Amino acid sequence: MRTLIRDARVFDGERTIAAADVVLEDDRIAAVGAGLRTDVDVVVEGAGRTLLPGLIDAHTHVFDGSLAEALRYGVTTELDMFCLPQMLPRQRRLAAENDDVADLRSAGTLATAPGGHPTQLLAALAGTVLDGIDAAAIDFVTDPAQAPAFVAARLAEGADYLKIVIDDGAVHGADLPVLAPETATALATAAHEAGLRVIAHAITASEAEIALDAGVDGLAHVWTDLAPDDPASQRLAERVRAQGVFVVTTLAYFEAITVQGVQTADCARPGSSANAVGALRALRRVGVPLLAGTDATPFAPAHGTGMHRELHLLTEAGLSPREALTAATSLPAHHFGLSDRGRIAPGLRADLLLVEGDPTRDITAITSITDVWRRGVRQSR
Ligand SMILES: [Zn+2]
Repeated sequence: MRTLIRDARVFDGERTIAAADVVLEDDRIAAVGAGLRTDVDVVVEGAGRTLLPGLIDAHTHVFDGSLAEALRYGVTTELDMFCLPQMLPRQRRLAAENDDVADLRSAGTLATAPGGHPTQLLAALAGTVLDGIDAAAIDFVTDPAQAPAFVAARLAEGADYLKIVIDDGAVHGADLPVLAPETATALATAAHEAGLRVIAHAITASEAEIALDAGVDGLAHVWTDLAPDDPASQRLAERVRAQGVFVVTTLAYFEAITVQGVQTADCARPGSSANAVGALRALRRVGVPLLAGTDATPFAPAHGTGMHRELHLLTEAGLSPREALTAATSLPAHHFGLSDRGRIAPGLRADLLLVEGDPTRDITAITSITDVWRRGVRQSR
């Protein structure tokens, strides 16, 4: 099966080619260039349109239906940051065996203290999306000595990376048990010894400092407790940069909990959205790799459309449209070791998105989707 996408503007994950032909062969991108008028089975008109790598959402939570919803809006890979063990195997199977859903990588069960974040949110979901699932029956970590066994259990579960939660609940208006710093460090060390990347949920500057002390590879959110002009934000951003840590943006999540008061989150401190934007700007100023992520759930932000919102918010926060698109394609692929995707180049997976107009100049064009390919399979629209 060969497909020619003709005369499209191409954003290749890093830069824009004004007009190119792209040939897909089965599940791969076969060629990118000019005048590739070879024998093909299908020709797709690209004039006036932009072809992009499928979007990668670097922070989601996958439930039944999530992966199909994501793909409909051009998110071809979801990086799940906590999926319950009762749900993960069937989501993984779905993503591996079907081309009408987004692909999936997952942290599996996250590391938190007994009763720690986000168990209070899971308790609120009992009987809805968690009908019949006992979310309290997950592994918890209470001291550093348990770290190697916890990581071994995640490997057995098929986790692609480790997620650690450092959150005492203060931003959520709660007081929750939290992992001790030495436990976070032991978890990061055990994960690295097992070859796993480590991503921390930390939502205040002091929690982010604990994560950095532990030696994590990435932060799953920007911090949200410092005023936008607080010089402490800039100092922390410089530390993040010095340690080579990436940060997942999740502005759509902070918008949801600040403005909409969504079902999964209780009363974040007022202003957290503006503070999140301030932290993001500080991180961008010093050149920290920013990965677009939404914290999508079955509530808000939603899978797929949440990513469109995230891209919009990133440009409002000062990223150029090109930077925002890079944050949603080649950068997450690079930082999560997904060398087969996130760019448009010969030999890579044909995970692609075709939109009307030019999202490299006007990010809102990302919503005008004409076609999505997952592993070379064109989605019916
Ligand atoms: Zn999350």
